[in-house]
Amino acid sequence: RMKEDGKNNYTIFEPSPNNSGIERLTLENSIRKALRLEEFVLYYQPQIDTLTGKIIGTEALVRWNHPTLGLVPPAKFIPIAEETGLIVPLGEWVLRTACIQNQIWKEKGYAPMSVSVNLSSRQFSKQNLVKTITEILHETHIDPQYLELEITESMTMNVEVAIEVLGKLKELGIQICIDDFGTGYSNLYYLKLFSIDRLKIDQSFVRDIMTDSNDADIVATIIAMAHNLGIDVIAEGVETKEQLDFLRSQNCHEVQGFYYHRPLPVEEIEQLLMNTMEIDTKL
Ligand code: C2E
Ligand code: MG
Ligand code: MG
Ligand code: MG
Repeated sequence: RMKEDGKNNYTIFEPSPNNSGIERLTLENSIRKALRLEEFVLYYQPQIDTLTGKIIGTEALVRWNHPTLGLVPPAKFIPIAEETGLIVPLGEWVLRTACIQNQIWKEKGYAPMSVSVNLSSRQFSKQNLVKTITEILHETHIDPQYLELEITESMTMNVEVAIEVLGKLKELGIQICIDDFGTGYSNLYYLKLFSIDRLKIDQSFVRDIMTDSNDADIVATIIAMAHNLGIDVIAEGVETKEQLDFLRSQNCHEVQGFYYHRPLPVEEIEQLLMNTMEIDTKL
């Protein structure tokens, strides 16, 4: 169930006859160059409140718009960026870009929504994370309550560090979500101590909700536990009406997944937001 189950690919170029010889260093250099040339791009996946049908937020998901390979998914370069430390400048670019974009949407008059940004463990353990985020908040004028950071359970393993960093981040007024919840080791006691705002149920549980009663039980338990602790809960990877109905029957009303929308480029998000506005004015 762990994410490390080989799901992530550690080389950007698949081991095919054409590109088998590419060295890590080359890759590191091309990521560095891509940062400089601004080849990275953010897609945004809507998060829906199923009680209202409204978009309450988006998750920013990075892609590499490679000049010859096209749109490269994060699984192909995030692991190397993490290993080499390039995730720090890349992650900072993601944070700043997501905040700027969310602020632009606010200024265009769309209903306020949050933006969720994935944080890597390398960023989380960096001394200046809080300083960087403080600067980005000031620069972009985003209302901190509309910025959510997604961390994973593994980042909270060093309890002292987690308490300190999360405490400082909460002081800034931003939201904290635990991503891929259920796939790592969580000390439930600390969820409360860390002032976590939201749990995101991992898509691996959602995927098998209808076929695996264990997964259905796990999902129901996570939702009930979150409610008891006063923590919000969102489910990711919702692809079917049946999965959605199950989640709703368990009182999980925030969802993200292909059933509603795939991660979309800025223009398509705006199209969606515009359509939603039209519906609102008709009502
Ligand atoms: P994640 O944060 O758990 O993001 C959810 C992933 O599930 C995304 O893949 C999304 O496209 C995909 N997804 C969403 N709905 C569905 C669905 O209904 N079915 C299925 N099968 N998949 C769905 P993506 O964009 O390829 O991102 C993969 C992972 O890469 C992310 O997992 C996250 O861990 C990492 N990542 C993406 N962007 C960033 C970033 O800016 N910084 C860092 N550190 N990591 C990132
Ligand atoms: Mg995420
Ligand atoms: Mg996830
Ligand atoms: Mg909240």
